[in-house]
Amino acid sequence: MTWTPFASVAETLRALESGAVSSEEVTRAYLERIANLEGRVHAFLSVYPDEALAAARAADARRMAARRHPDETLPPLLGLPIAVKDVLAVRGMTLTCGSRILEGFVPPYTATAVQRLLDAGVIIVGKTNTDEFAMGSSTENSAYGPTHNPWDLSRVPGGSSGGSAAAVAARMVPVALGTDTGGSVRQPASYTGVSGLKPTYGRVSRYGLVAYGSSLDTVGVLAPAVADLVPFFTLMAGHDPRDATSMDLPVPAVDLTDAVEAVQGLRVGLPKEYFLAEGMQPEVVQAVQAAVRHLETLGAQVVEVSLPHTEYALPVYYIIAPSEASANLARYDGIRYGPRVGAARMWDVFYRTRGRLFGPEVKRRIMLGTYALSAGYYDAYYAQAQKVRTLLKRDFERAFEQVDLLAAPVAPSTAFKLGEKTEDPLAMYLEDVFTLPANLAGVPGLAFPVGFDEQGLPIGMQLMGPHFREDLLFRVAHAYQQTTDWHTRVPPVAR
Ligand code: GLN
Repeated sequence: MTWTPFASVAETLRALESGAVSSEEVTRAYLERIANLEGRVHAFLSVYPDEALAAARAADARRMAARRHPDETLPPLLGLPIAVKDVLAVRGMTLTCGSRILEGFVPPYTATAVQRLLDAGVIIVGKTNTDEFAMGSSTENSAYGPTHNPWDLSRVPGGSSGGSAAAVAARMVPVALGTDTGGSVRQPASYTGVSGLKPTYGRVSRYGLVAYGSSLDTVGVLAPAVADLVPFFTLMAGHDPRDATSMDLPVPAVDLTDAVEAVQGLRVGLPKEYFLAEGMQPEVVQAVQAAVRHLETLGAQVVEVSLPHTEYALPVYYIIAPSEASANLARYDGIRYGPRVGAARMWDVFYRTRGRLFGPEVKRRIMLGTYALSAGYYDAYYAQAQKVRTLLKRDFERAFEQVDLLAAPVAPSTAFKLGEKTEDPLAMYLEDVFTLPANLAGVPGLAFPVGFDEQGLPIGMQLMGPHFREDLLFRVAHAYQQTTDWHTRVPPVAR
């Protein structure tokens, strides 16, 4: 077999193992694709070709040395290039969060999730574009210019992990890390026709992930196929003493063999509220229904369920997330991190640095959040939102008494045009109606492609499961991909 950059993770690892290809060749091939496509797609905020090739040569040398010592076990992802969303710290690489307020900032340490992958042998080729501090649904809130959807360059790739999604869709890297606070892995995966996992809250350490909404933030992963995601999830997951919210639970190995057979008898719930949203694109509903029927032909038992508080997810999220963000962003004062706009008086340094270097969406969230948390309003907004969050959580608990998992659309429509929603923050927030509930409840979600609309734009479906049941989502989605081929489609610009 000759290796190509369209190979799956498993195929590339096999080719590296057998010596059919070297890590240097693999890394060079992806770097060349980045060089050819980046001008049109703008998926990256930084690329490190020299460092990546040096790491690839080191990986090759390590493999060579191991051939002389057959007992030596090599790290499982040795020599595989990946990209990392630019909200995760990687020592020695810039960490901008898509913001001017962190321009040029280089963190002195590496996020735990990333470090575990580095220990497993991956090579980081660069950091991907993101809405400023992961606030947005289109990657247009990046201070460094938007990412373009490889399926239609005049459209958004979704967000906030739009850079990672576009990089994977265009096969500029085989895998990329993203983060999901309210849908930022699943929605861009859906818009770009790739697979993306948002793990259970607390499953993957947040240490070294720049905090946005601390009670919602998760580190996820994107790749063409669900099977590609599995080793990344299992390596990143697990307890980390540096993150007090990371759960001390074993991470079971995910077994994808006989996944198709395992669908037999599974109860799949269709939450009726997820099919009724105003202004839904009919093709999205049809594609998701067709995918569910496909699971039915594999033996799943499909049941309609109700998650009655779904309509409150949006207002609840847009109180809680900005509240947490307003506190988390207080640290950017021009003193501790990144650039400073100087002034004679200390308070003026704060005002000017924050005033000039934060973008409009970030300022909007800080204002919303500080308002909701202020004395006199706290009980009416923040405390109330927390109560409704509990009701949303109970919706899921009740549903999972009746069914094993839930299937639903990821977003109400396919990718929209660049600029279409930038003047209307509420229209942008409405993109998130179907992804926010999983974050508020902390449950895992897995998005993957299930079709295309008439304009040739990908449509995604998400599976949601009980806490810590990523394995179930993986097996069912893999069964779907074993018997369909949507996930193998590559956008024309990238062929
Ligand atoms: N679009 C949502 C927001 O703007 C979710 C973003 C995310 O998941 N990081 O907050």
